[in-house]
Amino acid sequence: MPRKKSDALEPREPNSITCRYCGQKNSVKPGYQNRDANCGRCKLPLSDEPHKKFHDLHKNEYIHPADAKALAALKAIPGVDSALKKLLEWTGESAIRVMFMASAVKVTPNQCPDLYAKLEIACKTLGVEQPDMFVQQNPIVNAFTGGVEKPIIVLHSALVERLNDEETLAVIAHEVGHIHAEHVLYITAARLIEFALNRSVAALLPGAEIVKLIVSMGVASALLAWARRAELSCDRAALMVTQDAHVIGKTMMKLAGGTFASKIDYDLFLEQGREFKKQYDASRLDRFWADVMNAGLSHPFPIWRVAEILEWVETGQYEELMAKHA
Ligand SMILES: [Zn+2]
Ligand SMILES: [Zn+2]
Repeated sequence: MPRKKSDALEPREPNSITCRYCGQKNSVKPGYQNRDANCGRCKLPLSDEPHKKFHDLHKNEYIHPADAKALAALKAIPGVDSALKKLLEWTGESAIRVMFMASAVKVTPNQCPDLYAKLEIACKTLGVEQPDMFVQQNPIVNAFTGGVEKPIIVLHSALVERLNDEETLAVIAHEVGHIHAEHVLYITAARLIEFALNRSVAALLPGAEIVKLIVSMGVASALLAWARRAELSCDRAALMVTQDAHVIGKTMMKLAGGTFASKIDYDLFLEQGREFKKQYDASRLDRFWADVMNAGLSHPFPIWRVAEILEWVETGQYEELMAKHA
């Protein structure tokens, strides 16, 4: 039985389908069904299901409560904003851009055009001005966003190699989420502080004194504690772009299991996430966060992140937000 398909929507061109993500028109074989083929431009699966673009999304509509709470605690420290501003001034935009992109390839409409299309999709969906994006040779599956005046996104090469097109969109959307949620300045400060704390060259860096001051003020630990929780808000932003919770779940599974993920049972992985969350009450979670932070992990465990996303979907909050923006 053929599924309902695009013929009804485009009666004059039964063999073409417009990509729901990027708007590119693709010709398809007669009898085509949803997800049989990928868009020639953004490489995402073709489907005639709708894809929502937000016109007036506000960060407070999706910010995770743990993010909001940790940010309030950080902002309650006297002098925090001026100390961080000083740190970023000392380091400067150019040094930050060098630190973030080092030897990276800039993504353009001609260089890695499908990645460029995915960036455009994420920005258009959330309503964010498009930043520059780079791919950097790095074997660790990761991505990050940084900058002062102008944010940039950096994708590690391993991420592009190991994730499929939908999962790559999820990661890019997560990074665009950092921009939408106005995380970039604080995230950049957090990375600078981590960089300074974790390396013996720290003393040689401009701003070494200000880093010491920030640590002594208690800003560093509050900032790093916030930065981990901020990830949960951006996973929600990623879901608002992919509009499929399982894409987020499978991305997390790859982050947890690496390429071995193809041998992992997805349903059991989700079950593990639910179990994990059940076993930790709020106070134990706080201790856990401290452990995560002390361990120097840049992102909280994927198992936990998937549990948080599942909860957001299963409590109906995600659907409510989507319906509000119909
Ligand atoms: Zn497309
Ligand atoms: Zn992030």
